[in-house]
Amino acid sequence: MNREPSGVAGVRRRPVRAVSLLSGGLDSQLAICVLREQGIEVTGVVFKSPFFSLDLANRAARQLAVRLEVLDFTADILDLLAHPRHGFGSCLNPCIDCHARMIRRAGEFMQANGMDFISTGEVLNERPMSQNGRTLGVVAEDSGFADWLVRPLSAKRLKETRPEREGLVDRSRLLDLEGRSRKPQFALAVRYGLTDIPTPAGGCRLTEPNFCRRLDDLRKHEGLGSIRDIERLGVGRHFRLADRFKLVLGRDQADNAAIQSMSGPAEYILKPDGSPGPTGWLPAAITETLLMEAVSICAHYTDRVDERPVPVRVECAGENRVIESRPLERDAVERRMI
Ligand code: SF4
Repeated sequence: MNREPSGVAGVRRRPVRAVSLLSGGLDSQLAICVLREQGIEVTGVVFKSPFFSLDLANRAARQLAVRLEVLDFTADILDLLAHPRHGFGSCLNPCIDCHARMIRRAGEFMQANGMDFISTGEVLNERPMSQNGRTLGVVAEDSGFADWLVRPLSAKRLKETRPEREGLVDRSRLLDLEGRSRKPQFALAVRYGLTDIPTPAGGCRLTEPNFCRRLDDLRKHEGLGSIRDIERLGVGRHFRLADRFKLVLGRDQADNAAIQSMSGPAEYILKPDGSPGPTGWLPAAITETLLMEAVSICAHYTDRVDERPVPVRVECAGENRVIESRPLERDAVERRMI
């Protein structure tokens, strides 16, 4: 594939334009500040998927007053979850492949918009497993844009890249950060007037054990073909009833509203009839036996005053009926919980 960014060959244009990955973390903000100090025009990119929040990136873009482009990464991350060439981190996070793919997408954005190079806020050896010299090299090579990738915070400790060789970026004014200490970054934040400093880490659900347990269960039983199923993983309590059949119950009013709004036309909604309790969701085509089981789990979570059967309203495809059920016992409920 031709990786030539438009306009690099031949007469150099002004101003130099870079696309920079902006997760919203401090390092990604500092990388932009370092480049801008050289008069380089920077556009931030952030990646959207059911697993990442855009909040930090939006906050950072406001603080930096930088243009932020949102690229849909859903198909990419689902592909990487199915085929993680370099495997997973401590949860279901395919970080090496994910970084490489993000840089590839940024590189394609660079080419499509006639920009000059890509930058990231990666710091050599900041994370011993995923940001050491070897993995930074693998990520760069796998992205297909290794020679257009500048890492301004650690550039002086890394191989010179084409934008540096061609004078698009002044290597002498890039940095030589290395290691886990955050002190140099905090000092730089003061220097660049950054006051909104996010805590490190966070923002990716693929690093959260509880979320990943549910994701793994979904992967095995229903597959990851439905974005709605993936979005539902972040809501309420989940119970495995059988292969391809699960129950989701709200924990509070916000969950209940989300469960209701995410339900499809042939799917089931459960609501305790006459007593406070959770809204429930079941997939279409559930068997009557599993429906009864789901109702008894829903009844377990109602605010009941005695041991009489609990009426639960079952809605599906515009029809509804009330089923009375005794609550399922705690042990049996917990065995089904994902
Ligand atoms: S933490 Fe999440 S978003 Fe970041 S590289 Fe890993 S998988 Fe991708």
